Amino acid sequence: MKSQSLLLYILALTQFLTITFAAKRDHKQCFDFPDPLNPTRFDTPDCPTVENDETYHVEVERGIQNFFQVDLNCYYTAAVCKKIRNAFNDAGKEISKVLKLKEKIYVNATYESFSYSEKTLLGSAYPARSLSLISDDKITRLYPQALAKQFSLKKHPEYSKYDINARFNADFSWWFKADNKKIKPYQYDFFVVILHELIHGLGFISSWDTYLETNTYQTITGLTSNYYFYENNEFGGFIENIFDRYLKVIENKKKIPLSYYTAQLNKSVPPMTLFYTRLEFTNKVKSSPQWKYAKSVLKAATSNNILFTPAKRTSWKQDIYLEASLKPFVSGSSICHVSQSKYRKTSDFVMTYQQFPGETEKYLIERGGNYKSPIGPRIISVLESIGYATAANPNPIKPKY
Ligand SMILES: [Zn+2]
Repeated sequence: MKSQSLLLYILALTQFLTITFAAKRDHKQCFDFPDPLNPTRFDTPDCPTVENDETYHVEVERGIQNFFQVDLNCYYTAAVCKKIRNAFNDAGKEISKVLKLKEKIYVNATYESFSYSEKTLLGSAYPARSLSLISDDKITRLYPQALAKQFSLKKHPEYSKYDINARFNADFSWWFKADNKKIKPYQYDFFVVILHELIHGLGFISSWDTYLETNTYQTITGLTSNYYFYENNEFGGFIENIFDRYLKVIENKKKIPLSYYTAQLNKSVPPMTLFYTRLEFTNKVKSSPQWKYAKSVLKAATSNNILFTPAKRTSWKQDIYLEASLKPFVSGSSICHVSQSKYRKTSDFVMTYQQFPGETEKYLIERGGNYKSPIGPRIISVLESIGYATAANPNPIKPKY
């Protein structure tokens, strides 16, 4: 999430480095993202199938108030670190009230000074591991581990220790509710930022990004979903997140699923094609007739033409506009949030890409119309669509292994 007071936000997060990853052909079901600020750099570790032995399955205690267990790396005063910890606890409880979770979610969080290129960022979070599972439309997609665990699958790729990696910027002036003081015009409510970032970690995140045009100052001409290679440098394919299953591009007044664009991009290179360099791969895709689909998605993502259509029977029936107004495209901000201009002043404020100083959770809830939770109905329907159970939607769509 970005701070609003500084104008440098476009500069941040645009300089992704080359991706290096590989997977054995029979063990390709895991994608690890060690740095939440740079999800285009990920590993595909050896990730064998695990069979859940029912006798060892530990039932989570009834009435648990907070499903989030946070390991906090905090190198500031004990008083500051305690406030951070308490804010995490409050955010974990809030999400645990809204979602019907079954399994605990482990968060690896760091509170630290950010580097110069990241200095406009309040915080960042990303699934620590995503697993490839088969969605109800038979397409294989990436599911964040926090979500995959809730499905109680009999077989699944091996889980890693943490579900979510998160970082928070210690250089901002933070406001904590527990201080019982009036917020200053330059302060940010830490609780709102944690809530926002944890929701990303739960899977409110698109895979569509500038993977093939990552050099500094390179003009961005198209977007693709994530992709992977096998260990022997054979191309595996483009692969979306479960979040992307519900995205649509508006083109010539028609709504076209983003999954269609992924399918088209998968025709740009035959599977198992061997590439000696990543540049060779990039050139092949960008010179293919299918690159026009990457261009179309970029156009939509920078002209307010990307929608999230919630799954049937979820809390919200209408299409939700995602953040697609930023031009040029901003990795980490575009597509991965709800539209700021449309929803900043509604009950869905928590998932806009910027937070403004001087605004507390209480103020934002009141301005949004006093919804019962800081997690608004559109945000809840996104989480329900990707597979989280809620009181209103206890049986979400489940993937298969
Ligand atoms: Zn965000």
